[in-house]
Amino acid sequence: TIILGIESSCDDTSAAIIKGNQILSNIAANQTIHNEYGGVVPELASRAHQQNIIPVVTKSFSKANIQQNDICAIGFTRGPGLLGSLLVGTSFAKSLAMSLNVPLIEVNHLQAHILAHFIDDANPQPPKFPFLCLTVSGGHTMIVLVKDYFDMEIIGKTIDDAAGEAFDKIGKIFDLDYPAGPIIDKLAKEGNPNAFQFNKPKLDNYDYSFSGIKTSVLYFIQKEVKKNPNFIQENLKDLCASIQKAIIEILMKKLEKAAKDLNITEVAIAGGVSANSALRKAMQANHEKLGWNIYIPKFEYTTDNAAMIAMVAKLKYERGEFTDLRTTATSKYDL
Ligand code: ATP
Ligand code: FE
Repeated sequence: TIILGIESSCDDTSAAIIKGNQILSNIAANQTIHNEYGGVVPELASRAHQQNIIPVVTKSFSKANIQQNDICAIGFTRGPGLLGSLLVGTSFAKSLAMSLNVPLIEVNHLQAHILAHFIDDANPQPPKFPFLCLTVSGGHTMIVLVKDYFDMEIIGKTIDDAAGEAFDKIGKIFDLDYPAGPIIDKLAKEGNPNAFQFNKPKLDNYDYSFSGIKTSVLYFIQKEVKKNPNFIQENLKDLCASIQKAIIEILMKKLEKAAKDLNITEVAIAGGVSANSALRKAMQANHEKLGWNIYIPKFEYTTDNAAMIAMVAKLKYERGEFTDLRTTATSKYDL
C-alpha cells in the first residue's frame, strides 16, 4: 500500500508518502512569518498553507518517485489544531481523493504524534503494548496509556499551559524568537542548570501545570531587570539551563510516578518537546536507573510532520476505516 499523508494543523505544511511502514518522502514548509510575533498568527498561517500545499505535495511525490495514480488512499489531519489551517489540508485532501477516486482517511494529530513510533525507521523495535507515552507539544502535555493502536487513555494532562507553550512564553520573556523551545535547548547547553531555582507546582495526581512557573519567571525577571537592565543578557545561558531543568523535572516526575504505579517499563515520548535534549537525557537516565525500555522519536518525527499522518492512515487503511468525503475539519478532537 502506498498512501499520501497531509498535515496542516498549525504552522507547518507537510506531505509524506508511505509504502508499507516505510517513509519514502516527508516534505515540510515551515512558516517563518510568525517568528517576529512571538506566536502563530492564525490568519497568516492559513494563507501560508494555501501557498505551500501544492508545492509541498508535488515535491512529496517527486522525492518518493511515485506517480499520483500509484496511491491507494489519502490521509489528512482532521484535528485538533487551528481551524483555518486544518481547512486548507482537509479541503485539499478531499478534492484530491475525489479526483483520483481513492479513499479518504481522517487522522487525529495527537494519535499521529504517538503512533509515529511505528514508522519503520523510527525505532529498531517499536514499543510493545501497553506503553506509556509522554506527549509533549506546543498545544498539549499529557501522559497517555497506549493499550493498542487506537485504544488510548489519557491518565494525566496539563490543567493550563502545555510544556512547549511554557518554553515559548518564557522564551518571549527572555526576548527570544518564536518558537523559543529549540533556542532555549541550545543556549542551555552552555549554562548552569543550578544557577536559579523556580517553584514547582504541587499536584497530587498525574496532572501538570506550567502557568505558575511562567509567572514566577516573569516576576523574577522584572525584579532583577529593575536592579540591572542587562540582567537577561548577562545571565541568558544560565536562565535557559535553569528553566529547562525545572520543566523537564516536572515532566519526568509525573511520568515516573505513572510508570511505577501502573508497573509499566515501556515508556515513549512524542511531540515537539520530545526533541529537547535534556528530556532525552532524562529518559536515557531512567533506562539505566529504572530499566525502562525507552522510545525517543527521530528529530524529523518530533515536531509536526506528515510522515506520522501517513503512518496512522496506513493503520486505518488496513482496518478499512475510511472517511466520508463530506467530512469537516475540527479544531477539537479527543484521542
Ligand atoms: P500540538 O501537537 O499539541 O497540536 P503543535 O503541533 O504546535 O501542538 P509541535 O509542532 O508538536 O506542537 O511542537 C512544537 C513545540 O515544540 C513548540 O512549543 C516548540 O517550542 C517545542 N520544541 C521544539 N523543539 C524543542 C526543543 N528542542 N526543546 C524544547 N521545546 C521544543
Ligand atoms: Fe503537533
